[in-house]
Amino acid sequence: MSKKIGLAFDMDDTLSPDTSTQLVSSFGIDPDEFWGKTIRSLITTGSDPTLAYLHKICDLSGKGKPMGMLTLEALRKFGASIDPTIYPGVDGLRADLQAIAAAIDPTIEVEMYVVSGGIKHVLDGSDILRRNFNAIYANEFDVNPKTGVISRVKRAVTFSEKPRILFEINKGITQAQADANPYMVNSAMPEGERPIPFENMIYFGDGLTDIACFSLVRSRGGYAFGIFNPEKPASAQRAFDEFIAGNRVTAVHAPRYGRNDELGSLVRAAVTRIAMRIAGNTTKSARLTPTD
Ligand SMILES: [Mg+2]
Repeated sequence: MSKKIGLAFDMDDTLSPDTSTQLVSSFGIDPDEFWGKTIRSLITTGSDPTLAYLHKICDLSGKGKPMGMLTLEALRKFGASIDPTIYPGVDGLRADLQAIAAAIDPTIEVEMYVVSGGIKHVLDGSDILRRNFNAIYANEFDVNPKTGVISRVKRAVTFSEKPRILFEINKGITQAQADANPYMVNSAMPEGERPIPFENMIYFGDGLTDIACFSLVRSRGGYAFGIFNPEKPASAQRAFDEFIAGNRVTAVHAPRYGRNDELGSLVRAAVTRIAMRIAGNTTKSARLTPTD
């Protein structure tokens, strides 16, 4: 039986305010104009939302353009600036959960992953993310080999890509293995041999793009926490209409992960529950799903 517990988090508005908005704003681009007009007009004419914004950032990069000579290194450097915006209690969360699980069974390991529709090079620049997460999955750019400036999309994490990433985590496929063989995730693996069964998984997300992940994890015995911003009526409305009324999540909370916060304390309770099941080995999964 697996001794691993996996927590997977959306990034933007789940672990910090939207990082791509922070990026475009840092170049003096008005985010309302960018998302509300430029990207919206691409989406309403059929573009995939993720590809639309990534291509637009490429278009805006280069000599004399609004985002300038935007290299991967420049994106990583920008990523260091997002740390102060990361929500309370994220830093130190994995160590705390690991200690809670280890007190129940010292052989249990707690892993945390970012599964984001943001930009990986930016997220890789964050000290807090590097220290607290086992891997970061997000969009990647390729560069113009002559100038080093980003020029095209190398990997896109659209919303339907997120469940695929959860299956990679579920089956213990590393990013390097998936890069070398993107089809590996489709290989059959009996449920009992998967390093992080879905019943040992907890997913956190704030958006409609997270709903497929909520369903996947919960339908296989795991837990899903919806995140919302109580200061924004539209966020509360969406959380109520889509997450609560639709019964898509275990619970909905503001993104505060500290020990004494509502969400933070419930996450610790969820990890305790999973760890006790693993230690007691009492409810071995009855869910055999050979059709993944
Ligand atoms: Mg989000």
